[in-house]
Amino acid sequence: MKYYILFGPPGAGKGTQAGAIAEKYNLRHVSTGALLRSEIAAGTALGLEAKALIDAGNLVPDSVVEGMIEHLFDTVRDCSGFLLDGFPRTVAQAEALDRMLSARGESLEGVISIMIPDSVIRERIAGRAAVEGRADDASEATISNRIATYHAQTEPLVDFYRKAGKYFEVQGYPGSIEEVRERVLALVESI
Ligand code: AMP
Repeated sequence: MKYYILFGPPGAGKGTQAGAIAEKYNLRHVSTGALLRSEIAAGTALGLEAKALIDAGNLVPDSVVEGMIEHLFDTVRDCSGFLLDGFPRTVAQAEALDRMLSARGESLEGVISIMIPDSVIRERIAGRAAVEGRADDASEATISNRIATYHAQTEPLVDFYRKAGKYFEVQGYPGSIEEVRERVLALVESI
């Protein structure tokens, strides 16, 4: 199995670009945010616990998302690998992922990072809010907290994966969705 991480700040276009990569390489696209939103929609205990954190723009506990990912690694077989979107988001999650992969005799192919400037994040999220209706896209305070959380807790992963020689970046701005898709697919091809 091949394992890729799709990385970038909120609004970078990870979800938008994931489909084309997953389809081309027969990967299972796993978005921890989407999985959490379905738990909320289904009204599960986990969903209830996650909702307040997500609505405030905070991260859910590492153990929650690590458990989801591990379950998928153990059960999903009908693909050539995984495209992880929104996971890992902390250094602790990245270390847990390393442990999960080495326990399975597997390793990470690479991190596909889509970068956009902070000034574009808000504009992109505002555009998405109108289309997807996500509660965490609707409040300015939540968006600000997500951006701050990204810089404080998730951005350190750039160094983490750079040191491991696994970090590959494309610019997600400027450019149309199609132009960014070309960049992303060319990058994956080169990994
Ligand atoms: P996303 O759809 O990736 O923007 O995620 C939406 C929200 O779900 C985030 O703002 C977090 O509250 C939560 N979330 C998603 N993935 C993770 C993760 N790997 N670790 C912690 N919280 C997460």
